[in-house]
Amino acid sequence: MVLRLRIAVEGIVQGVGFRPFIFRLAAHHGIVGWVRNSGAGVVMEAEGDADALAAFRAAIESDAPPLAVIARIVIEEIAPQGDGSFVIGESGEGAGTVRVAPDGDVCPDCLRELFDPSDRRYRYPFINCTNCGPRYSLVTAVPYDRPNTTMARFPLCDACRSEYDDPMDRRFHAQPVACPVCGPTLRLVDASGAGLPGDPVDRTVGLLTEGKIVAIKGLGGYHLAVDAANDAAVAELRRRKHRDEKPFAVMARDMEAVARFALVDSVEARLLTGPEHPIVLLRKRPGTILSGRVAPANGYVGTMLPYTPLHHLLLKERFAALVMTSGNLSDEPIAYRDDEAVERLSAIADAFLVHDREIRTRVDDSVIRVFRGSPLFLRRSRGYVPREVRLPVEIPSVLAVGAELKGALCLTRGDRAFPSQHIGDLKNDTTLASLAATAEHLQALLEIRPQAVAHDLHPDYLSTGYAEGIAGLPRVAVQHHHAHLASCMADNGLDGSVIGVIFDGTGLGTDGTVWGGEFLVGGYDGYRRAAHVRQVPLPGGDAAGRGPDRMAPAYLHHAFGADLFEQPVPWLTRVGAEERSLFLRMLERRINSPLTSSCGRLFDAVAAMVGLRSRISYEGQAAIELEGQAEECATGRAYPFALLSRQGAVEVDYRLMVRALMEDLAAKVSLPEMARAFHNTVAASVVDVCRKVRSDTGLDRVVLSGGVFQNRLLCEESCRLLEAEEFRVVTHRLVPPNDGGVALGQAMIAGVAHRVPQSDKGE
Ligand code: ZN
Ligand code: ZN
Ligand code: FE
Repeated sequence: MVLRLRIAVEGIVQGVGFRPFIFRLAAHHGIVGWVRNSGAGVVMEAEGDADALAAFRAAIESDAPPLAVIARIVIEEIAPQGDGSFVIGESGEGAGTVRVAPDGDVCPDCLRELFDPSDRRYRYPFINCTNCGPRYSLVTAVPYDRPNTTMARFPLCDACRSEYDDPMDRRFHAQPVACPVCGPTLRLVDASGAGLPGDPVDRTVGLLTEGKIVAIKGLGGYHLAVDAANDAAVAELRRRKHRDEKPFAVMARDMEAVARFALVDSVEARLLTGPEHPIVLLRKRPGTILSGRVAPANGYVGTMLPYTPLHHLLLKERFAALVMTSGNLSDEPIAYRDDEAVERLSAIADAFLVHDREIRTRVDDSVIRVFRGSPLFLRRSRGYVPREVRLPVEIPSVLAVGAELKGALCLTRGDRAFPSQHIGDLKNDTTLASLAATAEHLQALLEIRPQAVAHDLHPDYLSTGYAEGIAGLPRVAVQHHHAHLASCMADNGLDGSVIGVIFDGTGLGTDGTVWGGEFLVGGYDGYRRAAHVRQVPLPGGDAAGRGPDRMAPAYLHHAFGADLFEQPVPWLTRVGAEERSLFLRMLERRINSPLTSSCGRLFDAVAAMVGLRSRISYEGQAAIELEGQAEECATGRAYPFALLSRQGAVEVDYRLMVRALMEDLAAKVSLPEMARAFHNTVAASVVDVCRKVRSDTGLDRVVLSGGVFQNRLLCEESCRLLEAEEFRVVTHRLVPPNDGGVALGQAMIAGVAHRVPQSDKGE
């Protein structure tokens, strides 16, 4: 019996890949009809056999994209109409219409053809159709049409043309459609750029099997690949890339291969297999098949599945997993142009697997970690951009340029924000040029003309300089942690006032000191610094960011004064007399030692104090390893701390904790127990301060933001304790808690500041 249902899904179902999900689900169950966005969410009409419809209906909830939050499903039976297919409808005209989709993976139909010897695209690395393949990375302009993509230079052959022109074909108006006759071709070249003979895919597999390093052109840039099981190859890649310890991501052949080295829950599985194909941080399985050098001293391994036809071809036969790390020199953005890639990577790669389909926009892999059953972005990029975030209020169009680390910008129109892809740490001209190019390209694609520019308060950030160079637009300088607060609010559709617990590395405060352990009260239109971590001197200023061995003495001095070198920290005994007196002088006279309330630096200090790590080779390393240690111990024990009231603000004073840590260290308490008790202490202090702020303000909504909340243990423990005290806690959903998410907050703050007052509107 054939039925037709009108199904309205309400909740957070826009900007999360819901319509493509419904499309694939309909195809899977043989359902015809349509789906489109509506004011309240997504609406669809689905027609098919009663059993198929029931299965389709159930899967809408059980298999929904992990970023979606379904509030309600309303179903109504209507008369069948006998549609020929299932189609994704437009969102409607006007504000918020996105015409360019994110880059997708290979759909099941194309994958079948890829490995079908009788298909004319058998083993063709650029196979795609309307339901899959590259989009954002190859669009040059709008409207999204073949001449406005990097496929413009490949005229369609007759066979492709007839598919492209046939409304009944899966490749009807598939802009990147191609075949071996008319489309791009693959080439393998050596480090000098000279072509290597033989089948490029087979030859690449051979080189990787021999332990060689191959630069592989992907969807949004180059990867450097080696066999992830080959210890020597991974070591060589680390040596040539000058990357000692920062974890590498791997690409596994399929879910079965993933299960051989990692533990996967159902949300992680849905993320891994979804069309966005992010890197998901998975807990390592003991005795893993991967080389120990892939992610040393780390309980997690960043894992993704093949997302281009080329990846499927490379992984099909030989490898369970390949290391696939961004093809860049440290601190530079991922290479994406062919000449540039060969030039920049020739000292690293033995060979280059390249092709002549140009990448218009560089897009790194996205990175996600699952927290409390929900995805948390560590990097939001390929597969998700240019999706929108729906804002709680309509604001004038704003360009927000982000901060310094993990640069990303954000554009808004009406009640929609469009966060850009990850751009990189804005510490050099190459990355700055990428920020500028992305700003211009996204403005053109989204047809947004900003009416204001938002940037960080820090005058020396390259992003601030870029914003200052934009003529003719009003500028809004936004305090860094206020931007984090607003970002987490906007991410969750909140308005009004909240308590913001913002823990990160550094951000310039309004008093000229370095902030980073902040309890702010406010909303988009303003804030008050209600409490903060008690400040300590940051010896050596910004250099301390790379040296837990500088932060530990600062905290020890804070707790013990001149007796700091008498403490039982093993490596302190190795500090010579001269260095000791230099340190004391710096700390006591505050020479080149700005004050900081940074929570990230507190983690560094503790990692060094307990003897875990005194130097780091990548940002956040000490905190990541401290969290790894803490996960080994389940103690509920916490150290003492104090809340002090000073000049109208509360200070969180961890000196008692530092003293207790030194007692534990002297008593040879295990590292995991000290690490866990430290995490418990920070979480307990979060709750104590929030309780105090609630009693002063009546506010009970808490937003958690800042890079420190990438720490799963701290985030989960803080949430658990806050919820036990009946706070309403929200964390990030669609943008990262780290500085990759601040542009969204900057945009909201600037937009609200430039909003036309209601009374002046349209009269
Ligand atoms: Zn396809
Ligand atoms: Zn063709
Ligand atoms: Fe930050």
